Amino acid sequence: MNEILLTPIEFLKGVGPQRAQLLRSELGIVTFGDLLLHFPFRYVDRSSYQQVRDLAGSDGLIQLKGKITAVREAGSGKSRRLTAKFTDGTGIVELTWFQGIKWILPTLKIGVEMQVFGKPKFYANSWSIPHPEVVEMSKAEQVSGWQPVYSSTERLTAAGLHSRGLQKLIVTLLSQIKPDQLPDALPESLKKELALPDFAQAIITIHQPSDTTKAQQARVRFKIEELLHLQLELLLRKHIAMQKTAGHVITEVGEPFHRFYEHHLPFPLTEAQKRVLKEIRKDLAAGTQMNRLLQGDVGSGKTVVALLTMLMGIGSGFQGALMAPTEILANQHFIGLSELLEGTGIRVALLTGSTKQAARRQLHEDLRSGEIHILVGTHALLEDIVQFQNLGIVVIDEQHRFGVAQRARMWKKNTIPPHVLVMTATPIPRTLAMTFYGDLDVSVIDELPPGRKPITTRHRFEKDRLVVFGFLRDEISKGRQVYIVYPLISESEKLDYANLMDGYESICRAFPLPEYKVSIVHGKMKPEAKDYEMQLFVEGKTQIMVATTVIEVGVNVPNASVMVIESAERFGLSQLHQLRGRVGRGAEQSYCILLSADKLSQDTRKRLSTMVRTNDGFEISEVDLELRGPGDLMGTQQSGVLDLRIADLVKDGPLVALARDKAREILTSDPRLERSEHALLKKEAIRRLKDKPNWAEIS
Ligand code: ADP
Ligand code: MG
Repeated sequence: MNEILLTPIEFLKGVGPQRAQLLRSELGIVTFGDLLLHFPFRYVDRSSYQQVRDLAGSDGLIQLKGKITAVREAGSGKSRRLTAKFTDGTGIVELTWFQGIKWILPTLKIGVEMQVFGKPKFYANSWSIPHPEVVEMSKAEQVSGWQPVYSSTERLTAAGLHSRGLQKLIVTLLSQIKPDQLPDALPESLKKELALPDFAQAIITIHQPSDTTKAQQARVRFKIEELLHLQLELLLRKHIAMQKTAGHVITEVGEPFHRFYEHHLPFPLTEAQKRVLKEIRKDLAAGTQMNRLLQGDVGSGKTVVALLTMLMGIGSGFQGALMAPTEILANQHFIGLSELLEGTGIRVALLTGSTKQAARRQLHEDLRSGEIHILVGTHALLEDIVQFQNLGIVVIDEQHRFGVAQRARMWKKNTIPPHVLVMTATPIPRTLAMTFYGDLDVSVIDELPPGRKPITTRHRFEKDRLVVFGFLRDEISKGRQVYIVYPLISESEKLDYANLMDGYESICRAFPLPEYKVSIVHGKMKPEAKDYEMQLFVEGKTQIMVATTVIEVGVNVPNASVMVIESAERFGLSQLHQLRGRVGRGAEQSYCILLSADKLSQDTRKRLSTMVRTNDGFEISEVDLELRGPGDLMGTQQSGVLDLRIADLVKDGPLVALARDKAREILTSDPRLERSEHALLKKEAIRRLKDKPNWAEIS
């Protein structure tokens, strides 16, 4: 940005120190440039007038032309108010003010033609407009067409900077700036190709549009510009990361892989699994470190892909590590992998918080000597004392629980960092994935193994509980098992535990011994007690498992065919989907029952009805995104990425993809942004990559 745009806002006529301070604290507007980029969020039509008799059909802001017939002041102090009767010949409305009366009063001239602008309300059988704008017709600015509406705040409004006040400032500013003082970051060629307006022209159009189509084009231009800067930043970051990290070169799939694939793999891989393995194989041979995100819905078979990846590494003399977010899940992975690898000579070991000291010492030794090929565990794997002989592949399951920092710690276990495969069952839309995981390549398993029956999901209310219990008895009598899950938002929630224990007791009463046996698992239990209860359920010795969300991830009991979720309104969509994924793993028809209170908010109803409608994790994540916004969805970790002024990662998916493509094209032809038409893109990139001061030198 050039000088004039960097001028502090207090030097603008009509601002001054006090308003400048407010603009900064309320809207983050510090300079002329910031004010210009405070875009209107919509426009109202000021080119035409409505009639009072048609008010019932209007909504939002309207404009009237007519005369004031009477003015009256009533009350005193705080309840003081000013009212004016206004008519346009088709009906009467009352104009009312509660503040600023002494300024307004002198402007209300009876019998003079006036323009009135505001939002009408129908109350006690008559129309009124609170705090309208009233101007004598002869003095009314000729607002031809569309008037911009700007977001403001209460404090700014009190200082006279409501939407209209902000508009006045922007008009003043625009009158002081010449178009050639507004530099354009977008390269000519790109603007031409996409038929985008110049920066200067777009700024004028967005603030003073002659029609809404033009304003729309201006908006698109700014969105593309914003997203282009973002994508350039992400691609450059990725480029820098790739430059720095050489990786182990694994060119052969190797003997252990082939042997396992041909003699031990219990099922043919799905096409999606094969495709992903090819992508991984390419990464491993490339000479740079793999950083790949593997997305696949619950039950899509990510584990075997992880195993086959580690086997590729083992074939070239490396070790593998599989890290899971919970002890239960680590256990399950260990058992699952041990079964698959039986008779292969590949040695798997387990390390969690509850591994005993003596065993631990032996394990450390066997890791260092390379006798252990695959280590499965929790974040206990990250401890410094855990040293590998030659760690080549790290698989991280359920990525959303591990931070980037933890990923980095795994890398430090070697001079050449291991290849990293991150697996997640929380799919996110592709455009978001490419933004948030700018440093990761993304693979998707978009196909479930054959023969799965879709889970039937039903939403039931508290009053239907007895019917639901009857259904559970039927299923149990057919030899099936049942999960009943309670919300536990935080481990310290006393109330949640109380509910869980109440629920457990009432379930024990409804399903009495000796016919029924009920297990319970929650976060406050000792690990041994937890494992014991879990084991009873896994072995089919108990038919009902009452649990908190500790069973959310990974647990695999194919005979369990019913998932009941208590207080389902308290769970987020992705969590509900994860929980549902615990059933539907066997050959039987499975069910998910969402039990909720009777009164539900609109969002909650949408969540529950989405669950009933679809089993597709991607579809669910789209709805989740729509309901919660990307900030919530992705956690605060990447919040910087979300500082978008005008573009919306959710609604502007196609523009995100477009910007990504264009950013890639630009960097392919001009990797260091040295061309003069890229000068401003480079300037912005330098600003964004402050933490990587030498990026432009990296070839
Ligand atoms: P997730 O992707 O949720 O981690 P898993 O890896 O646990 O899924 O796989 C779910 C189940 O599907 C496991 O019992 C696994 O053995 C089985 N499975 C995986 N791939 C296939 C396949 N290609 N054909 C049949 N069953 C498969
Ligand atoms: Mg899994």
